[in-house]
Amino acid sequence: MAEKSQSGFQGLTAQSLYCAKCGQAQPVRSKLLLVLPQGEKYAYFCSVCGERLGIRMVDSQQGK
Ligand SMILES: [Zn+2]
Repeated sequence: MAEKSQSGFQGLTAQSLYCAKCGQAQPVRSKLLLVLPQGEKYAYFCSVCGERLGIRMVDSQQGK
């Protein structure tokens, strides 16, 4: 359904994202939203204006 909007985003370590409000890529702040058995859900916010730029699911099986 809304599959397309998230592709290209997941699996990346997002450090800067395009912010529509600022009109340019900005550094992001991540905030832990949810801890699920299958991973952790983070939201990313523009560090300049605070606009929410995206949500990312981090697989708990990553790493070791
Ligand atoms: Zn912004």
